[in-house]
Amino acid sequence: MGFQHQMTYEKQPLYIAGQRHQLHSTFQTINPANNQPLADVSRADRSTVNAAVQAGQRAFPSWSATPAIERSRILLRAVKLLRERNDELAQIETHDTGKPFSETSTTDVITGADVLEFYANLIASGGLEGESHQLRPDAWFYTTKAPLGVCAGIGAWNYPIQIALWKSAPCLAAGNCMVYKPSEFTPLHALKLAEIYTEAGVPPGVFNVVHGAGDVGAHLTSHPSIAKVSFTGQVSTGGKVASAAAAGMKAVTMELGGKSPCIILPDTDLENAVDGAMMANFFSTGQVCTNGTRVFVPESMLQPFQTRLLEKMQDIRPGDLMDPSTNFGPLVSKPHWEKVRGYIRHGIETDKATLLAGGLGPIPSLPASCSKEGYWIRPTVFTNCTDAMLITREEIFGPVMTILPYSASPSSSPESYLPALLARANNTPTGLAAGVFTNNINLAHRVVACLQAGITWINTWGESPAEMPVGGWKLSGLGVENGRKGLESWVQNKSSLVEMGGAVGTVFAKL
Ligand code: NDP
Repeated sequence: MGFQHQMTYEKQPLYIAGQRHQLHSTFQTINPANNQPLADVSRADRSTVNAAVQAGQRAFPSWSATPAIERSRILLRAVKLLRERNDELAQIETHDTGKPFSETSTTDVITGADVLEFYANLIASGGLEGESHQLRPDAWFYTTKAPLGVCAGIGAWNYPIQIALWKSAPCLAAGNCMVYKPSEFTPLHALKLAEIYTEAGVPPGVFNVVHGAGDVGAHLTSHPSIAKVSFTGQVSTGGKVASAAAAGMKAVTMELGGKSPCIILPDTDLENAVDGAMMANFFSTGQVCTNGTRVFVPESMLQPFQTRLLEKMQDIRPGDLMDPSTNFGPLVSKPHWEKVRGYIRHGIETDKATLLAGGLGPIPSLPASCSKEGYWIRPTVFTNCTDAMLITREEIFGPVMTILPYSASPSSSPESYLPALLARANNTPTGLAAGVFTNNINLAHRVVACLQAGITWINTWGESPAEMPVGGWKLSGLGVENGRKGLESWVQNKSSLVEMGGAVGTVFAKL
């Protein structure tokens, strides 16, 4: 097809109180497949961020008082519109992120719409109910779940519309309003989503969009009228955002990065081991927070694993992003491309890891139709890595697998290798995800019980359905998104004690 190379978009406005707001100050968003500008984007300043927060404040009394079942109906209309426009939205995400259409059209919009549908249905079926408790015959208390107010959503660039929906869905369902700031690298989805909400009947001011870089996010985070910050991004930025929010005693949800272990046990089928490790490293060109980049492979399987991995890597198909057979795109931006290449260079020159595949050269199989100006990178595998290497310690966020052999074979008793293996797997300050591949399901549960991570997978990698709460341990985050638990962080508890005895109990009665 190739038409994405000419594609440009209208100048992107902010979206405040149900209206577009164009500003003179702009920045550009770039198509990472060809390094060409996609659109000029209005850059918010302090006064427009303040205006967006005020719009949320004005909308809050009425939206929070709207019966949950009515809010649910409105949000379900938005779900319908998202699904009807799946391909249009997926194409925008492909242009903005560089992810193949085969992926954005089957994952990004759908997994976002699923979460909106889940929360719309949850609030319509009692998800916001409190509890009541009889203390004695004439006294009882009840609890209610009150919305927080105007909340900030700050997103990363790897799953733009999915992140926007994972934040706004529970936020709006619970009766809050939101000011959302997408990553400056991937702003295009935000206007579409805002206008879909408006079309569905979400009142003006309930969902607002401001564009810009970290300073806009920082202003939003420290704004005194923001009640909560839901953030997705790097651990280092998350630390800054959480400290700024703590000063104002704001609630936070932090979805941060990781360096997750992917453990292949000695009895695993070779095909499953390789397929699992590839999904854990090369999906979305490795730009997935839950990637299992530290692949622990038993020494007995190392050679066949590597041979089969190299064979299966022939099925990684970079190419025209709108071609349905393309399953590998460029990295999202120039700074990110430079960062990932810096890690690969470090792995070769300083860590001196064995380069099994990929490296710094151009992709040999890149079709001529693909622009050489795009941020393409070779899927890369380092083997015989050690835990001390930089490439096995830091999140690279690109298609870079590190293989860490461990001493075991199918005849080894788990007691002989598991304690050391689990200690290595957990030896990271982050704890977002972890996974194990094995035919021994009892052993799988034993392993998972010992893994220090908020999300664990057994014999699969990456699926994150709307019903399943997800969030990181250790430096990988605070709180969870999705599932029933995900709603709790968008409400505050109110306990009301009722005395019906007719006389107020007092210690100040006359003696
Ligand atoms: P960043 O931390 O660089 O940025 C995230 C967002 O925060 C962006 O919108 C950014 O603005 C904004 N921002 C930057 N500085 C500040 C600040 N001081 N105050 C408030 N906001 C600020 O992350 P990336 O965009 O690079 O995303 C990649 C990271 O996200 C990876 O580490 C990945 O693991 C993590 N991630 C975690 C997920 C999870 O669910 N756990 C899911 C997806 C990604 P701008 O970029 O526009 O300057």
